[in-house]
Amino acid sequence: MTTETRERIDISMFEGHVKPTWCPGCGDFGVLNAVKGALAELGIAPHEVLVVTGIGCGSKLPDYMLAYGLLTLHGRPLPFATGAKLANPDLHVIVVDGDGDAYGIGGNHLIHTARRNPNITHVVENNQVYGLTKGQYSPTSEHGYVSKTSPRGSIEQAITPTALTFASGAGFVARGFAGAPKDLASLIARGIEHPGYAHIDVMQPCTTFNKINTYDWYRERGYESDEAAGVSDRVEAWDRVQQWGDRIPLGLLYQADPPNPTYEQQMAALQEAEMNPVAGTAEHDPLDPRYDALKRRLFS
Ligand code: SF4
Repeated sequence: MTTETRERIDISMFEGHVKPTWCPGCGDFGVLNAVKGALAELGIAPHEVLVVTGIGCGSKLPDYMLAYGLLTLHGRPLPFATGAKLANPDLHVIVVDGDGDAYGIGGNHLIHTARRNPNITHVVENNQVYGLTKGQYSPTSEHGYVSKTSPRGSIEQAITPTALTFASGAGFVARGFAGAPKDLASLIARGIEHPGYAHIDVMQPCTTFNKINTYDWYRERGYESDEAAGVSDRVEAWDRVQQWGDRIPLGLLYQADPPNPTYEQQMAALQEAEMNPVAGTAEHDPLDPRYDALKRRLFS
């Protein structure tokens, strides 16, 4: 695409044909607008994007925007996204899922995706509750949180997702707020531009089931993180990524400088076969005629 064509891309090009069924005021609306806004800001066209989701209210997002979409299994969008990126490294792959999906059921995938570092952007709608299944406590619900599955209060400690991905090797760790979709769009755009796995945890209210972590609750606590304070310094960043409670830092919390090599870059088979995954399967021998035949079958 020419620069001129890219400049003509605007947010309306991502408008979906289906109206969201989310509850009024749900933070998912802000995330949807921010994802579309980030793509428009970067001049990325709908056909250049794949949005991969799991299961949950927010995981319906690909239904509501125009781009390639893949709704996968509960907790599994990250491995699907990694596979898609390996098969087509030119695609912008964005994963959008909720806290239950990303930090509970998919917790293991989260750790290993962070350390593998595929060039994908991961936006997590963290509303501290399971919304789709009607209000059970999630891995980020505060200790003592009362819900249908914790009627006397949760007896588990909440995890701090930004600390988890940072400790697992992520090269881009950030936190946004669904109540500020323009700022969130810019943050997601930076995540897309980052060469490697980018984790953006999003504080977002579930207006129906979580009456504690409301828009006001987040507004009272969120503050803009000071990037001048060494955003690539791991010691400084460790303090920022752990902060949660009365004061919650927003924005870019850590970015590796220089960036770590991506999973795709390190995949020798892909490099040898000029990023063609099929040609690269012949024990690194792209001249093996068996794989020519397989290629023809798959791509003709
Ligand atoms: Fe949003 Fe909660 Fe309603 Fe689900 S249940 S759509 S998360 S407000």
